[in-house]
Amino acid sequence: MQQVKRLNLGFNLNINIHKEIYSVLKKYWNFESFRPLQEEIITSVLQKKDTLALLPTGGGKSLCFQVPGLVLGGTCLVVSPLIALMNDQVSNLKRKGISAVAISASMSFKEIEIALNNAALGHVQFLYVSPERLQNEAFRKSLSYLPITLIAIDEAHCISQWGYDFRPSYLKIAEVKDYFNQVAMVALTASATKFVVSDIQQKLEFKNPNVFRQSFYRKNLRYVVQYEEDKFSRLLKIIKNIGGSGVVYVRNRKRTQELALQLTKNKISASSYHAGLTFSDRQTIQQNWIDNKTQVICATNAFGMGIDKPDVRFVAHMDLPDSLEAYFQEAGRGGRDGKTAYASLFFTNGDIERLQDNFKTMFPEIEYIKLAYNAICNYYQIAANSGQGLSFEFDLDKVCASYNLRPVLVYNSIKFLEKENYLSYLDAGFEQSKLMMVMGKEDLYNFQIKFSKYEPLIKTVLRNYGGIFENYVFINEKDLAYKVKLPASKVIEYLNLLTKQGVLSYIPQTNLPKIIFLENRINNKHIEINPKNYHTLKERYLERMNAVINYVDNNKVCRNIQLLIYFNEIDYTDCGYCDVCIANRPKDYSTIKSKIVTMIKKNPITIVQLKEKFQQYNLTTFVTAYNDLMDDGIIKESEGLIYKRK
Ligand code: ADP
Ligand code: MG
Repeated sequence: MQQVKRLNLGFNLNINIHKEIYSVLKKYWNFESFRPLQEEIITSVLQKKDTLALLPTGGGKSLCFQVPGLVLGGTCLVVSPLIALMNDQVSNLKRKGISAVAISASMSFKEIEIALNNAALGHVQFLYVSPERLQNEAFRKSLSYLPITLIAIDEAHCISQWGYDFRPSYLKIAEVKDYFNQVAMVALTASATKFVVSDIQQKLEFKNPNVFRQSFYRKNLRYVVQYEEDKFSRLLKIIKNIGGSGVVYVRNRKRTQELALQLTKNKISASSYHAGLTFSDRQTIQQNWIDNKTQVICATNAFGMGIDKPDVRFVAHMDLPDSLEAYFQEAGRGGRDGKTAYASLFFTNGDIERLQDNFKTMFPEIEYIKLAYNAICNYYQIAANSGQGLSFEFDLDKVCASYNLRPVLVYNSIKFLEKENYLSYLDAGFEQSKLMMVMGKEDLYNFQIKFSKYEPLIKTVLRNYGGIFENYVFINEKDLAYKVKLPASKVIEYLNLLTKQGVLSYIPQTNLPKIIFLENRINNKHIEINPKNYHTLKERYLERMNAVINYVDNNKVCRNIQLLIYFNEIDYTDCGYCDVCIANRPKDYSTIKSKIVTMIKKNPITIVQLKEKFQQYNLTTFVTAYNDLMDDGIIKESEGLIYKRK
């Protein structure tokens, strides 16, 4: 086992930490400085203190465990709720030459074994696991062989019943602390109200309370809430006036497609994004948008996790979000570069009703959830006390048709069964296709001579995917087909044939969602959907929904302040730029704006001269009007003179 590097605990500990973390930051990320609070959080972690980090989305939470993980050496165990999130971080780390692995429910026994062996040898710097995995007895045993030096809990709000995404399996995380009692824990989240903050620390059994919290105030985000019947025209105006890259969130998959089409017809390049698309389609769509080849992405809330695009100029919500937490995260994807960005939310009374109706289907009766569980087990012919570990392609409509059940209710029942750990549901295409060489190098050589038609394909695979003899690697069939100059269908056919012949192991991506049974089938009477959890969840959900309704209803208080109050922040002043603040602006504001423009149209003047001409007006109003003209690109400054832009 590799020697685990530890920091020496001398008197100059802090100086050493300071030096080391900056050199790691430079070496792997090529960044010169930390974002607000990152350094404080990392230092606290390296001092072996349990630490809770609250940074807004895009605030750079990953670095807060990745940098100390690298400084400490050994393996950093990362708990994360979603496969998509894990895979995304793993591929980012790998690109930097850092070894990282995600263990997910969709992996085969063999894949997991390989990953854990590698980790035990000290070859894995970041090991991502789901909280369910941590509860697995065999997995826990193998953990004790690993050189774990840090435990990171990403999306830590999932541990709290007060939070908006409670997952019971998170509650058991603290138990792994027993295996590593000298190891510090760092919990990270973008979203935590007062209750959640103390709840997280309690549930994770922090030795001492220790929280770093960055304000949720987003100075450059302009929140606009609008009652609007004709949302599409309004959206078009925004896109045309603001320009630049944007995201439009809608409630369902079909709407993403319709909207993208509608925008395209209006000569705006747009594509649709949702969890029903294949992995590679989503990658392409996302990348085109990041590279500014597509201007607007029309998406469900599946979009955005792990995506970091600095220059998003607007985020529009065409439907009401389920919670202000979700809204804040989604809207918060705008303006990460610090420049002005708009967050617009349109609603009608119909939307409020829809939100309330939706609430009813979100919480099927407990008896119904049990019924759905039974139906699913029957459909896949799972006998009592068996089924653990089995996975199936899941066709919701077929299962529902067979047992005369309502799809939305079954879908939401599955969400509860997931929370109670009976099964796990994976959206379609979440996992890319994977490939590993099974045959040894020498045999492979002989095989290629004997079956020469496979040779070009095998050679291309070996040339393009390193480490493929040791581990499964993600592949892209279309890309492979292009390189080997064969049709993609042929490549897939060959890969399947080669799998049958024991040359390699090809696990194709599926286009249907998957259900994985995490436990043996349980007798209907014994399924437990903890009623206390269920009712607490329902109540909290209702509270959050009402908070959304109050938010759109309240046009008296600055939007930024409303959000800050919701997140229990108490220090604030009006932002000056949201719809509420603008509506409350002094009448003079617009007058000043148009006067400035007329004044400098023919003869540019200096700012001092300009200011003198507006002496009879309130100075703050003048400054705001002036700044807005600058920000909106209507006027510009050059060599001390103010011009109107052409
Ligand atoms: P979060 O998890 O808080 O939403 P991430 O950890 O995904 O945020 O980071 C968001 C983006 O910010 C990433 O692209 C990351 O590389 C970038 N980032 C993080 N820290 C810094 C830094 N100190 N300097 C520059 N970019 C940073
Ligand atoms: Mg994150």
